[in-house]
Amino acid sequence: MSDSNAVERTFVMLKPDALERGLIGEIISRLERKGLKPVRFLWRAVSPELAAKHYERLTSKPFYPLLEAYITRGPVLASIWEGRDAVAVVRRLVGATDPALAEAGTIRGDFGLDVTENLIHASDSPEAAEREIGLFFD
Ligand code: UDP
Ligand code: MG
Repeated sequence: MSDSNAVERTFVMLKPDALERGLIGEIISRLERKGLKPVRFLWRAVSPELAAKHYERLTSKPFYPLLEAYITRGPVLASIWEGRDAVAVVRRLVGATDPALAEAGTIRGDFGLDVTENLIHASDSPEAAEREIGLFFD
């Protein structure tokens, strides 16, 4: 059970389209203005092996080849953010997976239109956050 008063950390990855479209500053600014604290940033490449570990639940999906090509095509900005109830708070700022359905006012709702190229990844549980931080930061 998650405790909504707990200070948590979460993993956020700005995907290649965020950099290509010049939206890195806008997205970081939204998380920062919310009151979340950035703890670490790391530019890095994502290999097919890292992509498969990160998206382990999705590798058998029909869309996975497209997702792999996208996430490995250029650098991503991996980051760790900390704050009260950070995992759920960041997921709400990010919005629904499909940007066409994401609420206006969310990152995907305001800047995205493609279900694969949806700008940002955020962990969906504290356990996933620790696993993903371990994959991207050694
Ligand atoms: N994705 C996709 N097609 C789909 C669903 C998801 O290409 O039909 C991609 C999209 O980039 C998404 C990622 O796979 O962000 C991970 O999917 P997940 O269901 O975990 O969504 P998220 O947690 O990112 O909202
Ligand atoms: Mg997910």
